[in-house]
Amino acid sequence: MKKKVLALALGCVQLFPVFVFAAERIEHESHVHGLVDMTVVIEQDKVNISLDSPAMNMVGFEHKAESEHDVNKVREVEATLKDIPQLFAFKGGGCEVDDMAVDVSGLIASDEHEHEHEHEHEHVHENHHADLEAQYQFICGSTENLSEIDVLLLQKFPAIERINAEWISNNKAGVAKLTQGNSSISLD
Ligand SMILES: [Zn+2]
Repeated sequence: MKKKVLALALGCVQLFPVFVFAAERIEHESHVHGLVDMTVVIEQDKVNISLDSPAMNMVGFEHKAESEHDVNKVREVEATLKDIPQLFAFKGGGCEVDDMAVDVSGLIASDEHEHEHEHEHEHVHENHHADLEAQYQFICGSTENLSEIDVLLLQKFPAIERINAEWISNNKAGVAKLTQGNSSISLD
């Protein structure tokens, strides 16, 4: 798990250099079903959002998808995680999507032909837990005017009980615990 976190951090460095700063001060909870970690970094005219969720919250399983049914489910979730208007609603700021990276590789068997039925037991054991990771970058007309982010993805994934969100902007920072009934991050 340590290795994976490091790999994620390194990946973020390449994608979003600013994330390094945030990563140093955020202690994420470990993999807990029902919980999602979310980080919002606002710097100059950019907003970066990263999500780290147990796959269970979104896909409903954490084994490598091999059956057509399971693979389809993973692809469906991947498509939802790329459908940004269904995930976040910004109040103010004039922000538009600039880039995104959605990683569902933890749920896709690397070589589908190699994983025959007799290996399934071992396979499931090796991959007892799996995370989904996503990063989004927005470019805004004025981040100063961005006052709120409504995290609509809660509605898309009812199995999420709580999102532990931490945000940092040019001169402010805060935390928010989001639930199905309270999904907005106030950036004031
Ligand atoms: Zn798990």
